[in-house]
Order: sequence, then structure tokens, then C-alpha cells
Amino acid sequence: MMLDQSYDPENIFAKIICGEIPSVNLYESDSILAFMDVFPQSEGHCLVIHKQATATNLFDVDDDDLAALTAAVKKVAQAVRDGLAPDGIRIAQFNGAPAGQTVYHLHFHVIPVYEGRNLGAHASGGPADTEQLEKTATKIRAAL
Ligand code: 5GP
Repeated sequence: MMLDQSYDPENIFAKIICGEIPSVNLYESDSILAFMDVFPQSEGHCLVIHKQATATNLFDVDDDDLAALTAAVKKVAQAVRDGLAPDGIRIAQFNGAPAGQTVYHLHFHVIPVYEGRNLGAHASGGPADTEQLEKTATKIRAAL
């Protein structure tokens, strides 16, 4: 999927937004959804998306929607910081398959980093245990 591909309304995150695919949610507003990444690179890895913006990547999102999205990224990252006390937090966003993007609905990754623990591989490996994701999500939600 290259940078100029049009938005596919059947993508996985569109299905998560409408509840067709289950997700462990952290935060939801009229325009924003934050949920746990099912293939986490570290404990607390989560994703933040805009629910209405049908943007494949950074280049086709409206500036106002992007502003709402990045404000939500900060809010969620703050809750990850407060809830999980990581040593660092990586914010990531990929545009196009050659850059590592695998889901074509614009999203930001919030990835806690813990000293002495390596990050897992991006978007690979087995899915996380839902109970474990819920446990971690409870700590993040409590800090929101
Ligand atoms: P990208 O590679 O596009 O930057 O990131 C997509 C992210 O979505 C990856 O980190 C991957 O683990 C995550 N992901 C893929 N499928 C699902 C899913 O069905 N549910 C959830 N919660 N995350 C997913």
C-alpha cells in the first residue's frame, strides 16, 4: 500500500470503530478512540485513532481532525505514563507499507519503554492474552 492509496472502509480499525471486531478500549469520545494494540511491542502499547476521519495516513487528514487526534495522543500518553510508570514513551506513526504501515486508517502508537526490556517486533508475533490486556488497560484507564 503506497502513500496515495484511497481509504478502504473495510479496514480493521474501521471495523473496530463500529464494534464489528472486538477491542480493549481505553478512551472514547465523539471523535476519538484509543485501544490496546493486540500485538503489543511492550506492556501498555496502545493506539489512538480518529473515528470519523477517513484518512489512510498523515497526508490526507484534515488539520482540525489531526489537531484533535494529537491532543488525544498526548492525553493517552499521559495516562500511560501515570498508570504504568515506564522509563520512556515512544510515539510512532507510519505512512505507507515501505515505512512499516500495516493498517491503513491513520493512527498513532503510544509505546511505553521500560529500561532493560527490549521492545517486541512491530505488528507481529502472537496476539496478546485478552485478560492481560484488560489488566493493563485498567491501570491506564484509572489514570485518564
Ligand atoms: P501500523 O503497522 O499500521 O503502524 O500499526 C498497526 C498496528 O495495529 C500494529 O501495531 C498491530 O499490532 C495492530 N493491530 C493489527 N490488527 C489489530 C487488531 O485486530 N486489533 C488491535 N487492537 N490491534 C491490531
